[in-house]
Amino acid sequence: MITNSILLQKRSNIYFSSDKDTKAETPKTNDSAIQHLSDSIKIKTIAQDDPSRIDKGEFNNFVRFLETIYPQMHNTLSKEQVSDYSLLYKWEGQNKSLKPVLIVGHSDVVPVSPGTEEDWTHGPFSGDVDENYVWGRGALDEKSLVIANCEAIESLSQSGFRPERTIYFAIGHDEETGGKNGAAKIAEILKQRGIEFECAIDEGMPIINDKAQPKGNRVLPGSVEKEVALIGIAQKGLLNLTISSRREPGHSSKPSPDSAINDVAEALTKIKDNPFPIRTTEPVKKMGKKLSDLMKPPYSAIFANMGMAGPLMPMAAKKSSGLNAQLRTTTAPTIFNSGNKANVIPGNAEANLNVRILPGDSIDEVKKYLNKVVNNPAVKIEPAEGINREPSGISPTDSPGYRSIVSSYKEVYPEAKPVPSLMIGTSDSYHYQSRGLIQNGTYWVYPWKATKEDLQRIHGTNERISKDDFLKMIDFYKNFITNASAN
Ligand SMILES: [Zn+2]
Repeated sequence: MITNSILLQKRSNIYFSSDKDTKAETPKTNDSAIQHLSDSIKIKTIAQDDPSRIDKGEFNNFVRFLETIYPQMHNTLSKEQVSDYSLLYKWEGQNKSLKPVLIVGHSDVVPVSPGTEEDWTHGPFSGDVDENYVWGRGALDEKSLVIANCEAIESLSQSGFRPERTIYFAIGHDEETGGKNGAAKIAEILKQRGIEFECAIDEGMPIINDKAQPKGNRVLPGSVEKEVALIGIAQKGLLNLTISSRREPGHSSKPSPDSAINDVAEALTKIKDNPFPIRTTEPVKKMGKKLSDLMKPPYSAIFANMGMAGPLMPMAAKKSSGLNAQLRTTTAPTIFNSGNKANVIPGNAEANLNVRILPGDSIDEVKKYLNKVVNNPAVKIEPAEGINREPSGISPTDSPGYRSIVSSYKEVYPEAKPVPSLMIGTSDSYHYQSRGLIQNGTYWVYPWKATKEDLQRIHGTNERISKDDFLKMIDFYKNFITNASAN
């Protein structure tokens, strides 16, 4: 398309020209950092379920873009390319006896949902910058995180900083489709080398900014007026199950109640009516204790002692799907397929059930529980092909990694209260921690301020980040790298 080729050409003049006169300047000002984020969004590193369909040129451009924009980083750190587009940077520490720190990021972004292109006030790959925001796919998830870390590393290395601990920075290129060719391959390589990390920091929980938001538009219950910097200390597992039934097909004029559609519909209804029991895990208990001080009754009392709140917990969970997800293994039917003619009872029906597993539960236990609930030999419940992940262990809150995150928050967002919590989504750090490479804690954070409305922009329409938050994100990672590498 015309616009695209003009964009590309413009970009290639700025960054990819071999002519030395047009070489990009090293980042010195806030403006240049914001420009770099904007330019990174213009590179369409769009995830594809079929890896052979990714736009290799765009992913290649992203690799070259980083090389061009961050010369000092590329002079100071070693770089390996894995599966062509995933990157593993290593910043050698001065003290080889200390275990290294791993920063996890990804360069791919989800596609724009077909049919919603026109709803974007700025083109999804425009990287438009206005008075307050940088706009486009990846502004939140997560070109901003990758670029903020690069800015932090570039600036620290320019100032002559050398870490005590070795810092690894891994940028996967297929996180949004499971990380099989990116993070999983990098993790395999590191495992073969016998690398063990002190801790890892990955994308995750933002700073919840409910302040001054109207009641129906808040993320947290209990009228919290203070900003809350959530720090994920554990991550839920992920399982897709195929729920299916096969029966004799027949004519709809003389129906039998035993039909494949009825079987699967009934199974899904039973699963909805018999949710997994509420269980208060360690991260949620810790979150409750810290949040309770900031809440109004009755939530202050419920959150202060979440394990003991009895019947109040299911009531509170019913009111908030976010809280519900923190308290139990959840199930959501996401695909339902059956039938192709209005007067034929089909011989098979199939649904996909997306399950998010609470730490402490397991894929096996989930299957057992659901089979018991459905209790129908005609219905098969089997793991679907694709990404199935056990939940993580629970990371400590008295570790150097956790302390580094807290002190970085205190430094950069002094008004926000750091609070441990449970990460309900999945991300690339799974590949490192599930292989036992992380010794003393994986932490999931996203150091930007989010309202409920902002959270809907992730993977949604009109994704954007405030310039101020992005600049603070750079400061956050500068602090984190300095703190974590010294501890
Ligand atoms: Zn992401």
